[in-house]
Amino acid sequence: MATGKINVQSENIFPIIKKFLYSDHEIFLRELVSNAVDATQKLKTLSKIGEFKGELEDTTIEVEVNKEDKTIKIIDKGIGMSEAEVKKYLNQVAFSGAEEFVKKHEGQAEQIIGHFGLGFYSAFMVSQHVTVETKSYKDEPAVIWECNGDPEFKIRKSKKENHGSIITLHIADDSLEFLEDQRISGILDKYCKFLPVEIKFGTKTEMIDDPKGEKDDKGEVKKVENTVDNIINNPSPAWNKKPSDLKTEDYDGFYNELYPMTFEKPLFNIHLNVDYPFNLTGILYFPKLSNAHNLQLQKNKIQLYSNQVFITDSVEEIVPEFLTLLHGVIDSPDIPLNVSRSYLQSDGNVKKISSHITKKVADKLASMFKKDRKDFEEKWDDIKIFMEYGMLTDEKFFDRAIKSFLLKDTEGNYYTFDEYKEKVKEGQTNKDDKIVVLYTSNLDEQHAYIDAATNKGYNVVEMASPLTAHLVQQLESKLDNVTFTRVDADTIDKLILKEDVEKHNLTEDQEKELKEIIESVVEKEKYSVQLENLSENDSPMMITQSEFMRRMKEQSAVGGGMMGMGNLPDMYNLVVNANHPLTSKILIETDAEKKTKLAKQAADLAKLSQGLLVGSELTAFVKRSVELID
Ligand code: ADP
Repeated sequence: MATGKINVQSENIFPIIKKFLYSDHEIFLRELVSNAVDATQKLKTLSKIGEFKGELEDTTIEVEVNKEDKTIKIIDKGIGMSEAEVKKYLNQVAFSGAEEFVKKHEGQAEQIIGHFGLGFYSAFMVSQHVTVETKSYKDEPAVIWECNGDPEFKIRKSKKENHGSIITLHIADDSLEFLEDQRISGILDKYCKFLPVEIKFGTKTEMIDDPKGEKDDKGEVKKVENTVDNIINNPSPAWNKKPSDLKTEDYDGFYNELYPMTFEKPLFNIHLNVDYPFNLTGILYFPKLSNAHNLQLQKNKIQLYSNQVFITDSVEEIVPEFLTLLHGVIDSPDIPLNVSRSYLQSDGNVKKISSHITKKVADKLASMFKKDRKDFEEKWDDIKIFMEYGMLTDEKFFDRAIKSFLLKDTEGNYYTFDEYKEKVKEGQTNKDDKIVVLYTSNLDEQHAYIDAATNKGYNVVEMASPLTAHLVQQLESKLDNVTFTRVDADTIDKLILKEDVEKHNLTEDQEKELKEIIESVVEKEKYSVQLENLSENDSPMMITQSEFMRRMKEQSAVGGGMMGMGNLPDMYNLVVNANHPLTSKILIETDAEKKTKLAKQAADLAKLSQGLLVGSELTAFVKRSVELID
């Protein structure tokens, strides 16, 4: 037996590991199983190139928990290590300034592990004693290495006959939770679900047809229990396969593997496969977003892997924010995983990856649009919010996506912007030579306005997402000569101003008198009274909310826009039709009380049609109506 000292400059590295890696203890299993996978993969490669001549039989890696002995074993049949290799790889934690570094990165386990290649040593986060029994694939004697967490180690010969390694962790008293099968299954499922070598954790029973063919009363072959290995991973996940080998069902099936609790199928997917200038594979799925009022809930579903080892599901730093609405997997050995988040953002590879993914997503949308427009239109309601989000937050994406951005009119027809401009330019160009896109944010609530607009020969499009106010603003600034107006933003005649409107025929005195009466019957701070030259057939009074005011309020409600506007009270225009007979009637009426009553009644009617008349005001209105009928 030989003893020795682990070559660490700072003698107390183990207590440091234990202390500072506290929060992420569970990753010890990921590190050890990954090492076992590497050792197995290496042997497979050596076998392929003829360096390893033996039989490559079963390469399954086993994880065994023994509650009584308080041990966890990770067993592989990979390349193993010779005594010299054990000394070289496990003993020389060769670095300098360890203590300093560890202190600087207090609590950031991933960084420390990455920096030192401390993968194997993470075993000491949960163990009081670790043994490694290993035999190299080369013809060398097997050895057992033992260490109890201080820099001392022992090494002795072993009788192990087959190549491979058995890592035994004697679990420390403060880590007994890791002896629970469920805890271990959970960790394996989280980090090892798609590792490329089969990993066995215990056994499971399944029901199979009786191999002896015995039949039950009904004459059917009996079902009997059969115990099989419990393989916890899928070694060849879909993202590593060729897209040409996969059908929609396969993609859907993989989606299910990733999100067993999600029942809705994804809309479509993008299979990523890049090998230059960086390595990246993956599958991104478009979830249905049409019902997603809370976009936050949809975020952070993308899982990041490095060579099939799960790393994290918070990818905000790696992809632009709007892409976090997508689901799926990204696998790249080129993303530096063990560095701080701020570093990640400035990393050249990460930037390239990010813009590559953005481009791929835009390209996919464009190609779907070109290839099968009808199908694209059918998916539009679900894709729209994603497109809007992307266009609002990512300039490059805007430029790519605008060509396949669709407007849907109230009759259910879809147009690109170019098509739409062509369609409405005749009827909806205003006096400033701008094409006015009339939109509705609510088909039911704005029904009367939509009706009026379509009767006038205008086309109305639906724009009903929480991002609409921001988006129309952006579209106006990016597209030439297009302006957006919500159908209820003004009276029908003024919705699209083709020439300057003539003033009404009331004298200045009449105008003043009328304004005063009407202002006396409504809340002055809420309604601004305006006299307009409308047709006799229009309503006597109408309430509108200006496009500007409404947009400001909506924008600040979803964030952005003018600060604090969300708290502003609603402001409306009370438009008085100067040409309506009722207006003349109010003016002519000599009895002051009757005059006010008439004005109040007309104003209340306008409020009623906008749903603004409620409570005691409504009760008073009904009462007054009855009196007026008398
Ligand atoms: P890393 O895996 O980042 O190199 P580790 O500390 O996890 O760092 O492992 C150090 C080295 O020990 C590995 O590179 C490998 O050569 C060797 N090693 C660890 N585990 C095994 C194993 N199960 N079989 C063979 N070699 C191993």
